[in-house]
Amino acid sequence: MTTYRDLLQRTRAEISEIDAAGARSLPDAVWVDVREADEWQEGHLPGAVHVPRGFLESRIEGVAPDRAAPVILYCASAIRSAFAAKTLGELGYTNVHSLAGGFTDWKRNGLEIVMPRFLSPEKRTRYSRHILIPEIGEEGQLKLLDSRILLIGAGGLGSPASLYLAAAGIGKLGIIDADIVDETNLQRQIVHSLDTLGTPKVDSAKRTIQALNPDVDVVTYRERLTSENIDRILDDGWDLIVDGADNFPTRYLVNDASVWRGIPVVHGSIYRFEGQVTVFKPHEGPCYRCLFPQPPPPELAPSCSEGGVLGVLPGIVGSLQANEALKLAAGIGEPLVGRLLLFDALSTEFSEVRIERREDCPVCGTHPTITEYIDYVEFCSR
Ligand SMILES: [Zn+2]
Repeated sequence: MTTYRDLLQRTRAEISEIDAAGARSLPDAVWVDVREADEWQEGHLPGAVHVPRGFLESRIEGVAPDRAAPVILYCASAIRSAFAAKTLGELGYTNVHSLAGGFTDWKRNGLEIVMPRFLSPEKRTRYSRHILIPEIGEEGQLKLLDSRILLIGAGGLGSPASLYLAAAGIGKLGIIDADIVDETNLQRQIVHSLDTLGTPKVDSAKRTIQALNPDVDVVTYRERLTSENIDRILDDGWDLIVDGADNFPTRYLVNDASVWRGIPVVHGSIYRFEGQVTVFKPHEGPCYRCLFPQPPPPELAPSCSEGGVLGVLPGIVGSLQANEALKLAAGIGEPLVGRLLLFDALSTEFSEVRIERREDCPVCGTHPTITEYIDYVEFCSR
């Protein structure tokens, strides 16, 4: 008769046991934690995937499709992982190792562990329609809650963008805007209302956002973005900028700063019935100056004051910006990098133009000629 002791001894002789140093030296190894859920929740190894022993046979192909690639299995004390290693050998895996001493020794030796994070029951309910999407799930929602997004402008584009980003659970939203809410804004700037007429737009937006989602930390900057304040504002730490500026001096300023700091910018603009959206991801795609290296001369410059716009157009374009921002924050999908999306509200047509990165770009090119901020305010025609 074979006892448990015999079986364990025999199994251990048949499999490969590896110590922590050896395991860490294996490149591209898949680390699989075969313990139970309650053990996993009290900490696990960095980068490990959780496949409880009872699900190993059915799930291993999903996490380690290449049977020749190294797989490191661990449990609490290298017993379950030894049996698991034997099973994987029988399934055709040829480079399987059981971590000697398991999680217990790893932790005792002071090596790095990760404490898993979970959404509270309230947040799980609030964001359930995200969690139900496999591409997002609880992990994706945690990423959104960790994200810090800076909005340039609390106007037409900033209104829908800020509302959807807040509703989606972006953890920290910064809003820059120097203006006061007036009656002409309400035709399209849906984050404001009659109640907030005459108050700063940043305060009005913050009030609406907090009523919608108190999880969001809203940081307000009641100022116009200039070369003087841009570094101070960006030093607050932003992962992403949603640019809803209605003037090109700000666009150049945001562009140059974002290239130097490596912060992606979701760019949007609107005029009458036409809208544009793209993503400027520094060094992966073009920047704004790859398209327009310098502003036009003052006599040809577009107006820097607001033009007419169909009320719903910023809703469409600002929502597309929020879509790009959420994808970038969650790390999913194909952002509009190197693609300029055009929308015509009169014909209801979308079209797309490829935009290329320029090697001779004055900011993101190989030999940049612009290395300091430039204020173009005087270039506006009025
Ligand atoms: Zn460029």
